[in-house]
Amino acid sequence: MKKLSLLAIIALALTLIASCSSKKAETQNEQNQAIEQYQCPMKCTEEVFDKAGKCPVCEMDLEKISNS
Ligand SMILES: [Zn+2]
Repeated sequence: MKKLSLLAIIALALTLIASCSSKKAETQNEQNQAIEQYQCPMKCTEEVFDKAGKCPVCEMDLEKISNS
């Protein structure tokens, strides 16, 4: 009986650890999407934009900045 409850506790702990680590991975993915940034390819302005568009200075298409 004692051995069985110990196994149950270990199984429960492993389940908790597994659910915790999968949640962490999801949060990291969301953060990666949130920090997607765009900047002028000519770097004529230090301004960083959070969505695609055109540079207000030279009107070139903004380039996505990769954080990887
Ligand atoms: Zn520009």
